[in-house]
Amino acid sequence: MTTVTPDTSVLSPGVQPEPLLSELSRSGAPGHQLPALDVPEVDDLGGQLLRPALRLPEIGELDVVRHFTHLAQRNFSIDSVFYPLGSCTMKYNPRVNEDVARLPGIAHVHPLQPDSTVQGALRIMFELQRLLAAITGFSGATLQPAAGAQGELAGMLMMRAYHLERGEHQRRKVLVPDSAHGTNPATAAMAGFVSVSIPSDADGNVDLAKLEAELDETVVGLMLTNPNTLGLFETRLREVTAAVHRVGGLVYGDGANLNAILGVVKPAEMGFDCLHINVHKTFSTPHGSGGPGAGPVVVNDLLEPFLPAPLVVQEADGSYRLDFDRPRSIGRLKGFQGHFGILARGYTYLRMHGAEGLRSLSETAVLNANYLRVLLQEVFDLAYDRSCMHEFVLSARRQKATYGVRTLDIAKRLLDFGIHPPTIYFPLIVDEAIMVEPTETESRATLDHFAAVMRQIARECQDSPDVVREAPRHQVVGRLDEVSAARKPVLRWP
Ligand SMILES: *Cc1c(COP(=O)(O)O)cnc(C)c1O
Repeated sequence: MTTVTPDTSVLSPGVQPEPLLSELSRSGAPGHQLPALDVPEVDDLGGQLLRPALRLPEIGELDVVRHFTHLAQRNFSIDSVFYPLGSCTMKYNPRVNEDVARLPGIAHVHPLQPDSTVQGALRIMFELQRLLAAITGFSGATLQPAAGAQGELAGMLMMRAYHLERGEHQRRKVLVPDSAHGTNPATAAMAGFVSVSIPSDADGNVDLAKLEAELDETVVGLMLTNPNTLGLFETRLREVTAAVHRVGGLVYGDGANLNAILGVVKPAEMGFDCLHINVHKTFSTPHGSGGPGAGPVVVNDLLEPFLPAPLVVQEADGSYRLDFDRPRSIGRLKGFQGHFGILARGYTYLRMHGAEGLRSLSETAVLNANYLRVLLQEVFDLAYDRSCMHEFVLSARRQKATYGVRTLDIAKRLLDFGIHPPTIYFPLIVDEAIMVEPTETESRATLDHFAAVMRQIARECQDSPDVVREAPRHQVVGRLDEVSAARKPVLRWP
């Protein structure tokens, strides 16, 4: 049995908390050196503006840089550690994406320039619209939404416009499986609808009978994720989408995580009417902590007229322009043309891989997830005993019941080994959930190491549960009050 020792190397420099900037401040320490005045000294700023009460820290530039660099090194990131955060697709962000995004013609264009002066940028957007539509089997696309959740809102507003145009004002109910990402019911509510939760069956699929019981002429549509957020492929998907269509509803696809199906199956052919795509997950742009991202939406012919304006179109002479003349559009959702820098990175990624490459990355993502699933399913319960897609959900219910160790403890213990924890307590329907998404960019050695650490933590739960319950032991701070940290962050000096 291999034993893994906690990795303390991530703790540079030392396990001491970083001092506060105020502690580093030395009164009178020069932060700058200016040449002697060769003009008369004047002071017309006025005491008001100088605000001595600000009490700014007095510290040299190099010390400020080191302070913030040391703080940044405390972060766990995909560039420093394994980061199997389920549903978030923390894959390697290829540096070529960054090179392209920094080209002057991409980084320095202004969103209000005349179309004729930004033909290259418009071409990138036009081709990206087409590539995303081709990958998913749809006919139209908008690149405007800033993130997955805004893509969902775009989709819901288009579905709303579609039903209203047909005079179907009674449609108010959006059906959402209970395994769905929390943004789905929230989006339905934001669009003014009522969301109705549909239970999953014993295999983790949408319960078709329970779905059918909700289907009537008040249904706006169904919001469905496939592979679903349990990492499982919905086996009766065609029946599910056909049932919704039979009552005049539409099917919205949450395509935040397309990593399992690129080049293998197209969502349009599975019966979806529209779908959002998280460029910042599947197509490898840096993400976390709220952005910036990009959540393009692809649609079929029914919803195409309602796409947000403007779209990028190509003229007969081959030139590109922004088309604002879309009378049935739901309007604008985002300033300018969305997050162009992120779109340029996603476009680069798609062009670097090509069709073959995309298919092979999806196959590797699924293989990696299944490899880990098999290595871990003896020591932690598998939520659903099926082969998985790009991620899988374990449960620490056995550890909780037998040794009083919870999923949160296991997640914190992983930090001691220099591993970012998987997603925990999601999906909500799995008790003590641990959702693992390794992605295709990890080596077999990394996967083996993670499995060894998880197995060791499972042994610790049994032999020395306090070690797990008191984790992390090798970090600067222990357990934080995460709610206060998120709700009441201290962001200002002093
Ligand atoms: C990440 C995610 C979202 C939301 O995407 P954001 O870009 O964070 O708004 C929606 N659904 C699923 C399944 C996701 O994984």
